[in-house]
Amino acid sequence: MIMPNKFRESIAFRLLFAVVMFSLAITLFLACVSLYFDYRKEMISLENDFRHIEKVELQGMSETLWVMNTELLRTSLNGFLNIGHIKYAAIRYKERLIVSAGTPQTEKSVQRQFPLYYTYNDRPVYIGTLLLTASLKEVYDGLLANMARRLLYQGIQVFLITLFMLVVFQFFVTRHLITMAAYFRQEAPWEFGRPLVLAGYTSADAKKDEIGQVAAAINTMGANMRTAFHELESELQKRRQAEEALHLFRKLIDQSNDAIFVTDPETGRFLDVNDKACQSLGYTRDELLAMGTRNLVADIPDDFSWEAHVNELRQRGYLLSEDMYKRKDGTRFPVEVNVKYITAEKGTYLLAVVRDVTEKKNLEDQLRHAQKLEALGTLAGGVAHDFNNILSAIVGYAGLMEMKSCQTDPNIPHIREILAAAERATNLTQSLLIFSRKQPAELKPVDVNNMVDGVKKMVLRIIGEDIETAIQLHPGRLMVMGDCGQLEQVLMNFVTNARDAMPDGGALTITTGLYALDGTASGLYGQRLHGNFAVISVSDTGMGMDERTRERIFEPFFTTKVSGKGTGLGLAIVYGIVKQHGGFIDCRSKPGKGTTFEVYLPIVAADVRKPEEILPPPVQGGTETILVADDDENIRRLTRELLEAHGYSVIEANDGLDAIDRFLQNRGRVQLLLFDVIMPRLSGAEAFAEISRLSPGMKVLFISGYAADTLERKQLLGEELPLIGKPMRPRELLSKIREILDSRE
Ligand code: ADP
Ligand code: MG
Repeated sequence: MIMPNKFRESIAFRLLFAVVMFSLAITLFLACVSLYFDYRKEMISLENDFRHIEKVELQGMSETLWVMNTELLRTSLNGFLNIGHIKYAAIRYKERLIVSAGTPQTEKSVQRQFPLYYTYNDRPVYIGTLLLTASLKEVYDGLLANMARRLLYQGIQVFLITLFMLVVFQFFVTRHLITMAAYFRQEAPWEFGRPLVLAGYTSADAKKDEIGQVAAAINTMGANMRTAFHELESELQKRRQAEEALHLFRKLIDQSNDAIFVTDPETGRFLDVNDKACQSLGYTRDELLAMGTRNLVADIPDDFSWEAHVNELRQRGYLLSEDMYKRKDGTRFPVEVNVKYITAEKGTYLLAVVRDVTEKKNLEDQLRHAQKLEALGTLAGGVAHDFNNILSAIVGYAGLMEMKSCQTDPNIPHIREILAAAERATNLTQSLLIFSRKQPAELKPVDVNNMVDGVKKMVLRIIGEDIETAIQLHPGRLMVMGDCGQLEQVLMNFVTNARDAMPDGGALTITTGLYALDGTASGLYGQRLHGNFAVISVSDTGMGMDERTRERIFEPFFTTKVSGKGTGLGLAIVYGIVKQHGGFIDCRSKPGKGTTFEVYLPIVAADVRKPEEILPPPVQGGTETILVADDDENIRRLTRELLEAHGYSVIEANDGLDAIDRFLQNRGRVQLLLFDVIMPRLSGAEAFAEISRLSPGMKVLFISGYAADTLERKQLLGEELPLIGKPMRPRELLSKIREILDSRE
């Protein structure tokens, strides 16, 4: 049971207090009244005593006094002291005391004087005065004691009755009030989960008394509130769910990867936009909400009419279009717009989904670009194949002539010129093939100085006249394992880029050098490098580039040049080539300060040299019979002449099937097959497979036009079969043939 904090504050206490006070007041009042009556009674009794004495004793006293019988007088007086409260009796004559009894009383006393007369000669004679004093002290004491007793009884009575009332009040009222208070103080009072139950009350006698009525009223109210509360709660739940759904919906809309605009068809103003719209256009939401589609379209026609636009939308329901939008900073970007005319309960809306198609457009451009290159590559590959055959003839015959002529022949320099030109043509086709990515690198010892020197003329031609060119070569040899054609390609790409970077002229410097790395430095791609490197450096004084451009230059298709001028492939090819060579590239550049590219290629041991460059080994011939199969008559004829000139016997075949026939006809004689990989009807590879089945261990040397052949050969025959590339140099062919014939089975 919960009691009020202080008992003094409880209703019961206050009730008790009030009752006690009131009954005390009443008791006091009644006591005063009764005191008054008691006092009066005492006074009357006193008065009666005096009157009795006056009536009965006075006569006798006068006579006794007359004779002055003092003894008797004293006895009489003493007799008075026994009456009531009389405490002192005396007889005086004038001022003289004649006789007295008792003690004189000074305070709280009542005094009576009775004059004493004696009838002498029928005439009353004054003979003295009887003085009686009654003490009131006892009267008062008695009264007071009486009153105190009465008050005490009354007080006890009042106290007991009040206490009883307190208990009764507690039982009938207070404890129910406290239960009610606790009931309202429960944890979730609004639920009124259980009804209020008061001790001693059943629901049946709810209306028994006031407390019961209050309890019943509380329970009715509780039931009503419970119903209301549940209704409210389910309403709230629904609302919360709706809010959550709305929130989620908003979030989804905002996270959409397309910009979404809701437009009022009347005013053309945006009613709502999503986050993506703000991000891609660079406006804040508030800024956009003050705008309309008209503010975003980049080139809006002069005769554009919003009403006509909305009308069209209303009729068709939706519109798909491509447009250019402009951002807040003025930049433009292509978009695809999908607008829908929507009729809702509260009006009509235009819902536009706007997709930024910059990337798509770029990809399309790149794809078109790549397709173009692919076509170019196929073309280049095809041309190179035939062209290689032609070059083979030129190189072959010129080689033959060179070999047959004596050293003093005045034609020798011309023949050498032909050979040199054919060599350059070979490089050209190879460049084409690299470009079309069909040529695997053929690593041979190359002197970087020679390579650079070789392309000097071409560089000068590319560069033009307003650019000063300086070439400084390292004094010693710089031998690297490399593909000369590809390295030239690298240099040419640097030079072309340098020229493009200096449209108003400038200076180009190409240097070669030797560079020792001790392994502490790391390359552009993070690899640890040590050893000696040949460095080819190409510097220009052109426009240079910033950090962001520099980071991307090796990406295929990355270009800052106007379309048609740059392909973005140059440095990508360079990167691929240098990587294939086990080297790395360094690029330093500052906007407006020019650019330096440096290519590092690992140096190979100085004595590894291209054999021809040191001393051409004596050309060795032989007497064996060789079956030559090639669909190109020129090549066949050239090969035959070359081989026969060096002692071999030659049998010719013009395709794979023919080769098998010829082989069967000359079985036992043929010691080597010299087959073109690709031929009509039956390829060299297939013909060789057939012949090896008939005659296992037959020796072969394949001639390959370009990379695709190599691939096919590898797929058909495995890696280890010997191969020589077109155009074949006579010396190379002869030594290869000798090598194969001399090898053991
Ligand atoms: P392209 O020359 O076709 O643009 P590249 O791959 O050769 O493609 O070059 C990529 C980009 O690198 C160029 O567009 C240019 O921005 C930058 N670049 C290359 N070389 C230089 C240079 N010497 N000076 C300034 N920028 C250069
Ligand atoms: Mg380029």
